[in-house]
Amino acid sequence: MSDASDSSAAGPIRAIDVIRKKRDGLELSRAEIESLIGGYTLGEIPDYQMSAWLMVALLKGLSRAETAALTDSMLHSGEVLDLSGFSAPKIDKHSTGGVGDKTSLVLAPLAAAGGLLVPMISGRGLGHTGGTLDKLESIPGFNVQLSLARFREVLHACGCAMIGQTAEIAPADRKLYSLRDVTGTVESPYLICASIMSKKLAEGVDGLVLDVKTGTGAFMKTDEDAAFLAELMVETGQRMGKKMVALITDMDQPLGLRVGNSLEVEEILDILCGQGPEDLRQLCIELAAWMFHLGGRTNTVADGKTLADHLIRSGKALDKFRQMVSLQGGDARSIDDPKRLPHAKHTADIVSPRSGFVSAIQSEMVGTACVVLGGGREKKEDAVDPAVGIVLHKKVCDHVAARETLCTIVYNSESRAAHARKLLEQSYTITDAPPAPRKLIHRIIPEPSQRARR
Ligand code: URA
Repeated sequence: MSDASDSSAAGPIRAIDVIRKKRDGLELSRAEIESLIGGYTLGEIPDYQMSAWLMVALLKGLSRAETAALTDSMLHSGEVLDLSGFSAPKIDKHSTGGVGDKTSLVLAPLAAAGGLLVPMISGRGLGHTGGTLDKLESIPGFNVQLSLARFREVLHACGCAMIGQTAEIAPADRKLYSLRDVTGTVESPYLICASIMSKKLAEGVDGLVLDVKTGTGAFMKTDEDAAFLAELMVETGQRMGKKMVALITDMDQPLGLRVGNSLEVEEILDILCGQGPEDLRQLCIELAAWMFHLGGRTNTVADGKTLADHLIRSGKALDKFRQMVSLQGGDARSIDDPKRLPHAKHTADIVSPRSGFVSAIQSEMVGTACVVLGGGREKKEDAVDPAVGIVLHKKVCDHVAARETLCTIVYNSESRAAHARKLLEQSYTITDAPPAPRKLIHRIIPEPSQRARR
């Protein structure tokens, strides 16, 4: 293993040598990783060399020391927010990405209504998964590109704010994220860890609740891979003195009943009004409970759930959402009158070819169908259609009659809808017997025994 002094003694570090060294299975020094990330952020290392390095990092994996160096370099490629002037506990949550995963839009106002400060910096859709920023932008006028000064003002006024990465926050991740999206290098746990943790640590939070997805709609398809990623991120956060917990949650079918930007906003409004699909409601309550517990608002997670439930029933969480929308330039009238949100022109039903039980829904295909409809991006520069998507009528374990509707395509373009239809027809599996139900929350990391020791 070489160290920084070896590399600097041998002259300037060259990207080609760093790529070759990783290709040959050797461990990179902190100096080599810093030089690669610094050079790429400044535009001195071109996309083609960075793409090669990303692919070799995905194929060979990174050591703990390399992952830590990568996260630190990406974090320090920009500004780290100092929120020490705010007295409330600063807690955020982040998901590794899924289909129909809209919990952030519930959690930011819900946690803020319970006295936490939630400085949420989120991403756009990546691959087949949706992005929080695209969902928020479907609310007419909502501005996710606030300056850091305005971000602080909104936080001060309502306790939560939701923005995209600014030029100041983890600029290395900003560039790498879109490069990974188009080079087949999203699915590396090490790269996901560095990407998420660099952004989240830059927020200046005291603690972080991670929602690590597992299943057909997640980047991590198995519980083992999800647990590996969860441990990597929890360890990275703890190394930086943050309170951390990761919930490994089911993404073997879409979360809730709606997939697509404004469709998902409508669904979170249902949840904030105490209605909406049970799986989404349950996950929001569970994640909020952990946020309250990490932030010291409640002694136990069970008390956190009671608090979250109360804040929804009392309308306080919805009020907070309305306030945040208005402060970020959004049309707050659309919160009480969702007809003001963008709506697509057409709908078409996908029906079941036979009677039986829904035994599986390939979530990745549903997510891809949404991208195909225009609800996500095929290329970095693509514009997103906020109104299109899919409404599910049947979920796993539901009984369905022959010719009964499984889901509805909501669309603006006939040719796109025809492509999405093919994907959606393949995404449902119908069998004679119902499948064994899957748990929504598979595991919590650290495990209870490790939590007790800390
Ligand atoms: N979310 C992120 O912010 N980064 C990733 O790499 C994957 C999901």
